[in-house]
Amino acid sequence: MADDNNEIELSVEELRQRYEAEKLKRIRPEGTAQWKNLKETNAKLDQDPFVEPGFTRDAIIEETTAVIVGGGFGGMLTAIDLTKRGIQDFRIVEKAGDFGGTWYWNRYPGCMCDVESYTYLPLLEETGYMPTERYASATEIFEYTQLMGRTFDLYPHSLFQTEVTDAVWNDETRRWLVTTSRGDQLSTRFLVLAGGILHKPKLPGIQGIEGFAGKAFHTSRWDYTFTGGSATTPMDKLADKRVGIIGTGATAVQAVPQLAKYAKELFVFQRTPSAVGERGQRPTDAEWFKNQKPGWQEERILNFTHCVTGVQPEVDLVQDGWTEVMWENTQKFPESEDEAAALERSDFMTMEKIRRRVDTIVEDAETADKLKAYWGKNCKRVCFHDDYLPAFNRPNVHLVDTNGQGVEEITKNGPVVDGVEYPVDLLIYASGFEINNDLNERLGFDPKGRDGVSLSERWSQGSHTLHGVLASGFPNMLLISLTQGAFGTNFVHMIAEAAKQLGFIIDECESNGIEAIEPEEAAEEEWLMVLYGAAAGGGLYVQTCTPGYYNSELQAPDAKAARNLVYAGSLLEWAGYLEQWRNNPELPGVKLERANAS
Ligand code: NDP
Repeated sequence: MADDNNEIELSVEELRQRYEAEKLKRIRPEGTAQWKNLKETNAKLDQDPFVEPGFTRDAIIEETTAVIVGGGFGGMLTAIDLTKRGIQDFRIVEKAGDFGGTWYWNRYPGCMCDVESYTYLPLLEETGYMPTERYASATEIFEYTQLMGRTFDLYPHSLFQTEVTDAVWNDETRRWLVTTSRGDQLSTRFLVLAGGILHKPKLPGIQGIEGFAGKAFHTSRWDYTFTGGSATTPMDKLADKRVGIIGTGATAVQAVPQLAKYAKELFVFQRTPSAVGERGQRPTDAEWFKNQKPGWQEERILNFTHCVTGVQPEVDLVQDGWTEVMWENTQKFPESEDEAAALERSDFMTMEKIRRRVDTIVEDAETADKLKAYWGKNCKRVCFHDDYLPAFNRPNVHLVDTNGQGVEEITKNGPVVDGVEYPVDLLIYASGFEINNDLNERLGFDPKGRDGVSLSERWSQGSHTLHGVLASGFPNMLLISLTQGAFGTNFVHMIAEAAKQLGFIIDECESNGIEAIEPEEAAEEEWLMVLYGAAAGGGLYVQTCTPGYYNSELQAPDAKAARNLVYAGSLLEWAGYLEQWRNNPELPGVKLERANAS
């Protein structure tokens, strides 16, 4: 809920200048090329630490209606939607050893979801599950995805520890042939790409990173054999260790308090501070939960998304940091100069309040100053945590601020900042995930559509989709992705809307003898115009932002980037486009091929 910030006085001009200065010192000429792919840098670091080595199984050769790539929420919700429509003939192919996606991989200590569990965990009314706390831990979410797998009987459909190596469309049979790392040959009518949004770890391209002689891992490949403990028990092998963590994004904000508790010394290497608001974790009130009326969850999910996209509904059901901070949409296109000034001021106020929170918690004034985020609330993901800032009051925790420059080198002993080497036993990369590169790179394979044209070839000058869901040249290929699709504070809400669309399309085709569906190029261009229209308001705002993955490191957009947009309006507007399309019996903008017709 919006609250009264009027007591805060601020100088708009000074803040503008400060934001600009922070942005300029952080901009890197390499742009998105500054990152390294984890697997290519060190394949060992990318291995799954959560499965027993040596798994084997016989290859499968079969025909199915759908192959779903990815067993995270996207793949699972699509599979559940298909099941409810009576379509049981599908396979889920998943690289990991179980369901969960993000929540399979991210088991770092302190990992949790910063979106309220009652809106984030899907299908609570159907599974009958009550989250234990307001913000669910990663362990609980991972277990919940397993519960979903059991409840909706998805395990028998799933091939775990299996990576898709290729997918080729056959114009004659109107089917995809999907091949995998286990020798499977899956002939399928529909290919669902739900391979993840933030799932492929990336490393900072720091000179010397390969030569570090100590232990190192990415946060999404946490090695508890080295740290001791588990996601739920103390890391009892760190008491004599000097630990470094590179990165201070949403992941580090959750991991740092745990490392601070158990490491002998902790060095937090910061390039850009996170904005960290109040969390307010609490156990679920079982009475309250029990008394929710049927339909409550959908209402709450919609209400939350309304609150965080500036719709300002009459009631704010969630009333947490997210709904307070995002209550006003400050990047919308202003109707007048007065409105532009009011929006700018509102954004400054929100962020100033978060900055002042630092002073009330962090005792050392110099450290407190360095922990203040000077960027607008839509530039990066705002975080909410009650233990991150207090960690810097501990004598064993040292903030190594790099003044926007980043760690300059890693020697065999540890990171170097400003010419000073920080020797560490363990170096943790909280450096995030690939997001601004090509979809086929993130998928790990390159689908070949009509005439053998690959996705990377077809999209070499940018993506072509209808709603971010269907792509011309790739019949029956269905996407859950940010590419020309939507973004949301509650990612699972976005994923659920996409899954509904995918289920509908497959059902519609199966029920009506449609063997192939793909968008008309003209409809894709119309969709691109919608994307441009939605981006118009945010364009000016983005120029004030610090670089990051939200804005492709502020690189000047080339022709390709100009097409690889995310729908910049609200997630519900995007969902509205999907619904409108579903409700139109003409299925506008797509080409359909029916049985016995060519
Ligand atoms: P991010 O991409 O947000 O953060 C990467 C961090 O690495 C940044 O702080 C970045 O600095 C830093 N970095 C990069 N290069 C260097 C360098 N050379 N020296 C020092 N620091 C460097 O990754 P996260 O894993 O934190 O989060 C990714 C996303 O995952 C989030 O935005 C969110 O969407 C999701 N997430 C969601 C959570 C939830 O609760 N729902 C929890 C955790 C993650 P800089 O900022 O300057 O680029």
